[in-house]
Amino acid sequence: VRQRIDHLTSDTIIYGRRLFLHYADLEDSTTIRRHLYRIRPDEFYHLAGQTHVGASFEIPESTCQFAAMGTLRLLELLRDCEPVPKFLHVSSSEIFGNPTDSPQNENTPFRPISPYGAAKAFATDMVRIYRDSFGLFACNAICYNHESPRRGESFVTRKITRAAARISRGQQSELVLGNLSGRRDWGFAPDYVTAFRQMLKNQVANDFVLSTGVMHQVRDWLDIAFEAVGLDWTKYVKQDERFQRRSDSQNLVGDSSFAQTVLGWSPQTSFSDMVHAMVAADLEC
Ligand code: GDP
Repeated sequence: VRQRIDHLTSDTIIYGRRLFLHYADLEDSTTIRRHLYRIRPDEFYHLAGQTHVGASFEIPESTCQFAAMGTLRLLELLRDCEPVPKFLHVSSSEIFGNPTDSPQNENTPFRPISPYGAAKAFATDMVRIYRDSFGLFACNAICYNHESPRRGESFVTRKITRAAARISRGQQSELVLGNLSGRRDWGFAPDYVTAFRQMLKNQVANDFVLSTGVMHQVRDWLDIAFEAVGLDWTKYVKQDERFQRRSDSQNLVGDSSFAQTVLGWSPQTSFSDMVHAMVAADLEC
């Protein structure tokens, strides 16, 4: 995963001047405590954990160890800091599972349907509890899917843009997927990172849904990505049981009007621009 920041660690103007890396493990409190006491951060952004929903059915224990217990461990460590850093936990729309309300907002009940969603629901509640009970400036960014050229290759979005680029160059002959009707509210990750910073700059700690409010299907990714490289995806895509989920949320679409009103935030990048940006990056690889 370190390779995703290679461009920063190899930049001598940034690395060692504005960016410093410290090794730690979410299961190792002693090391994290030592870093916290030495660095004394003003802000703490927590994005760590096993984030793949499909994989969470295969490795539920370690998923919960990191996403659920890891978050609680951080909250406990932060509570002992003087002063206590502002804390942002990147939560997930998966906490809503198969919701009856659509779109979902900050008051929608949690009904997770995957080990990952259950772990994130626990972590999200803990952040609220530590805010309300111990007065921590702790926030949940309840993020719907957020994509970028740095997205892991096992997620459907990057799998598609990468395959479109590779097939167009003759490096791959087919693309095997699961449910093509899979629906998500997909946004552009850099837009969401802008919101994270705004959340911790806000006067009051709170939870915010970050989403585009628009649902698309896996098919839409195929249409735009393959059209960008001048190919017809129906000639290359196959479906296989292997990539079907045991349960798969279909009604996840977020209402980010609270973030719009309080933070003045709204997503800036269109769905089509995001897919094109990812295909362009994969063509350069
Ligand atoms: P997440 O499940 O929302 O974290 O994101 P994914 O990118 O893993 O999956 C998004 C949607 O794509 C889900 O509805 C999946 O069932 C669907 N999907 C269809 N084919 C695939 C595939 O080959 N890999 C993955 N990861 N998802 C797929």
